[in-house]
Amino acid sequence: MTISYIALGSNLGNPAEQIASALQAVAKLPECELLAQSPWYRSVAIGPGQQPDYINAVAQLQTQLTPWQLLHALQAIENAHGREHHQRWGARTLDLDILLYGSKTVTDSELDIPHPRLQERNFVLYPLFDLAPNLALPCGTTIGSLLARCPRQGLRLYQEN
Ligand code: AMP
Repeated sequence: MTISYIALGSNLGNPAEQIASALQAVAKLPECELLAQSPWYRSVAIGPGQQPDYINAVAQLQTQLTPWQLLHALQAIENAHGREHHQRWGARTLDLDILLYGSKTVTDSELDIPHPRLQERNFVLYPLFDLAPNLALPCGTTIGSLLARCPRQGLRLYQEN
C-alpha cells in the first residue's frame, strides 16, 4: 500500500461539480481508498487568454495500483468528464495529476513524480499542506518550506456563495 497525493483542477463546465464528481470517481477506483480531501481553493487561471477561475483540491489516496496504473485510471476519469485534448495551459474541464507516490521518484516518457511543477504552484502546495503539513518530497524538502517561498497571491478558499 502506498499513499499518493492527487491534484484536481477544473475551470470549465461548472468546476465545483467537476471536482465533486471527480472525487467520487477517485474514491471508487479499484485497489484504492480515498483517505482525505483538502479544502477547495479558487485560483486565477494562468495561461493563454481570458479564462474562468479554477477550483483546485488535493486528494490523499491509499493505493495498490502502480504509478502507471494510477495515471491511466486518472486519465480515464478525465476522459469521462469530457476532457478534450487541450492547449497547453489552456482551460480544461478536469485535470488530475499525481503529485507524489509514497517516496518514489519516477521519470519516464509518461510520468514525472514528484510532479515537476508542484514546487511552484500555490494552488497545489496550499491544499497539500492542509492535508499533510509534515509531508516531504523524496529529496527531503518539506512542503512547508516550499510553501513558505510560494506567495499565496490570488489563491483563496472556495466558498459556494
Ligand atoms: P496535462 O495535460 O498537463 O495534464 O499533462 C498530461 C500529460 O502529463 C500526460 O501525457 C501524462 O503522461 C503526463 N504526466 C507526466 N507526469 C505526470 C504526473 N505526475 N501526473 C499526471 N500526468 C503526468
